[in-house]
Order: sequence, then C-alpha cells, then structure tokens
Amino acid sequence: MRIQTDTDRCIGAGMCALTAPALFDQSEEDGTVVLLPEGWSQEGADEEARGAVERCPSGALTLTD
Ligand code: SF4
Repeated sequence: MRIQTDTDRCIGAGMCALTAPALFDQSEEDGTVVLLPEGWSQEGADEEARGAVERCPSGALTLTD
C-alpha cells in the first residue's frame, strides 16, 4: 500500500498526525502534512493510514495499492 499527499489541498488540520503519529507529522512552517517513512514498516501501519485518510477533512491523502 502506498500513500500520496497533496500539500496544495492540505489545510493543516492535523487529523492525520493525531490519528497516526508514527506515519504523519506536520510542517513547522505551514502545518501541512509530512510523511514519516520509517513508520510504514510497523505492524498496523496500513490500518492507521486508512483511518487518517478517512479523517482528513480536505481529501489531501490518497491510498493506492
Ligand atoms: S488531516 Fe489532511 S488536511 Fe489535515 S494535516 Fe493531514 S493531510 Fe493535511
């Protein structure tokens, strides 16, 4: 599973980082999403990522197989 982020759509709401803090962080400059690559090898990462995608209010996160 892969994830794509669209920082143009991201409004910096932070739901991704709250939902899956091992996978997502936010830019200190503008609050937009930052991927944390090391978290994706952890058990349960796919499920956490799905939760973050569902909660993102701007549609900035897209999962692909
Ligand atoms: S939840 Fe969506 S809008 Fe909020 S910081 Fe993450 S990607 Fe951006």
